Amino acid sequence: MEKKKVLGQYGYGSQHWVGDGFPVRNLFPSNGVASEINPFLMLDYAGPADFPPSNQPRGVDEHPHRGFETVTIAYQGSVDHRDSAGNAGTIHPGDVQWMTAASGVVHEEKHGHDFTAAGGAFEMIQLWVNLPAAVKMSPPRYQAITSAEIPAADLAPGVVARVIAGELNSVRGPARTFTPITLVDLRMAAGSRASLELPADQNCGIVLLRGDVAVEEQRMAGEAQITVLSQAGQSIELSAAADSLVLLLGGEPINEPVASYGPFVMNTHDEIRQAVEDYRAGRMGRLR
Ligand code: MN
Repeated sequence: MEKKKVLGQYGYGSQHWVGDGFPVRNLFPSNGVASEINPFLMLDYAGPADFPPSNQPRGVDEHPHRGFETVTIAYQGSVDHRDSAGNAGTIHPGDVQWMTAASGVVHEEKHGHDFTAAGGAFEMIQLWVNLPAAVKMSPPRYQAITSAEIPAADLAPGVVARVIAGELNSVRGPARTFTPITLVDLRMAAGSRASLELPADQNCGIVLLRGDVAVEEQRMAGEAQITVLSQAGQSIELSAAADSLVLLLGGEPINEPVASYGPFVMNTHDEIRQAVEDYRAGRMGRLR
């Protein structure tokens, strides 16, 4: 099976707060990684950070999205979500929330009630996945995927893969997607190795959250880095020199124009103008 080639290795391009709850490092596109990781638009790595106990949940107040999906992966701490489509829930460690904003939702994202009261370590990923033009204006959809629903496969001694979406080494994940996506949470013990096998034709990134991992013998050590791989090829060799936490992203590119403005990602500037107008007029709904 043809190997994927390493195109580049990058650190985070910016560091900032999202609202008052999410101190993030941005793994793309602020570092210049963009078209090579299409259909993924953005990845923020929040924390790890410690929050003191409080009675005031931190986070992001009511805001809109249109034209894409937001995927939230919880590692430590929890997030309370509610949106204008009537969905609400708490994302706990190991859970994944796959929110299809599509034609538009308004939501808020806050630290979980119990986490806020207790305080402690907080660590999350938020990933933005583009939608093809044909479904950008379809109704919103919400998948609350619990940890128990995500299959955990032993790929090799010391290597556990939780397949959230798509298929890796013949293990299938539960998330429903509009285009072929592979999303996998990988835990690697020091000294372990794994051969990953992806579907054909997917752009691919290996995100190192913590640890020391070599991708095709090219080392990433520390935190918050990404190795971008070629669309061609299907297999990837990983080895870990320390206990490591890795997120694998794979996706077939959506080869359409991208026009984006803040929380809206469409195909044309006219569609962006319409999104701003629709949000202001309340046509993406309101939180109650
Ligand atoms: Mn949001």
